[in-house]
Amino acid sequence: MKINENYLKLQDSYLFSMIGSKVRAFEAENPGSDIIRLGIGDVTRPLPEAVIGAMLKAVEEMSAEKTFRGYPPEYGYDFLREKIRDNDYAARGIDIEIDEIFVSDGAKSDTGNIGDIFSAENTVAICDPVYPVYIDTNVMGGRAGELTKDGLWSDVTYLHCSPENNFLPELPKKAADLIYLCFPNNPTGMGITADGLKQWVDYANEHGSIILYDSAYEAYITEDLPHSIFEIEGAKNCAIEFRSFSKTAGFTGVRCAYTVVPRELEVGGVSLNKLWARRQATKFNGVSYITQRGAEAVYSQEGKAQVRATVNYYLNNAKIIEEGLRSSGFKTWGGVNSPYVWMKTPEGLSSWEFFDLLLKKAGVVGTPGAGFGPAGEGFFRLTAFNSAEKTQQAVERIKNSF
Ligand code: PLP
Repeated sequence: MKINENYLKLQDSYLFSMIGSKVRAFEAENPGSDIIRLGIGDVTRPLPEAVIGAMLKAVEEMSAEKTFRGYPPEYGYDFLREKIRDNDYAARGIDIEIDEIFVSDGAKSDTGNIGDIFSAENTVAICDPVYPVYIDTNVMGGRAGELTKDGLWSDVTYLHCSPENNFLPELPKKAADLIYLCFPNNPTGMGITADGLKQWVDYANEHGSIILYDSAYEAYITEDLPHSIFEIEGAKNCAIEFRSFSKTAGFTGVRCAYTVVPRELEVGGVSLNKLWARRQATKFNGVSYITQRGAEAVYSQEGKAQVRATVNYYLNNAKIIEEGLRSSGFKTWGGVNSPYVWMKTPEGLSSWEFFDLLLKKAGVVGTPGAGFGPAGEGFFRLTAFNSAEKTQQAVERIKNSF
């Protein structure tokens, strides 16, 4: 009897528990202190009214024999897949059919589970710093090799992101089979231009790589940047796209997302669309009717306006953070097409040293960059998901403290 020993290689994910215990210790030592949290990447505004209305109606339907629904279709109800096709793709001139859209319970699960349809022998290229799920799920899948003393995995090709490349990864020197990209990026908040993304699509088509494109923050794009990788010519032959209602419409607790696997996408003559369909039908039993009716309402006229208002609210917070820090001499990235502002820690402080100092001097909590990979050391992430008032207050405190 043996377990999957790859799990034993995983590092304890201590980032948010460490933040929690440091904040609790500070509160115990400083009773009554008014701490402002700009650390966690979770939304705080309630669901749009249009979504609530649609969900309530769906609950009513579940209460009557005639309209009750049991297991949902494993790839999503057509009513939702059609709205996704029309609004997120056709409206941008992209031809995606509903059998290329797989509705799911989250971009975290999908970006984590997608490895199921690829060989453990494939090589992977992953940005540093990064959303840790891409690394950890490749460790579980046996593609990462061993952890080296510099905190990097021996078999992963790292796409180093730093101020020198403006936190935009460069094409790998060593070809990789699977390439994880996320734009707008978590944690750096940086977006990518169509020309920048075209380089990746061309590279992947030339080398036979597959790009796993996480577009969970697409709704935060304010500049002229691609919302979908399928806006780029050739992407249907080399990319899978992950989208989520979490940060778009406040579904972090409700859970709904989708993944697009184009029909054209093949490896060795095998359709990846068919493989993912098989994987989902076997291991996943679909998203609840009530949730999918809620997601559908995101695309109604009122839903769109309400979603826009909430996203703009967070974007305004991001602007307050970014402009406030920049005007005080901090070097920042992101915050324009993203709810995340990435900053250089002052005076050469390590990211945890800055965390401690920020908590002590300003009573503000953020996320140390080192938690997103070795290249995050010396950087810090602030999020725009608190209230406008608290965000403003936090920025004033930071300005007065450094
Ligand atoms: N992808 C990225 C880059 C994220 O930052 C997050 C959440 O923080 C997710 C995916 C998870 O999305 P979901 O809530 O749909 O699982």
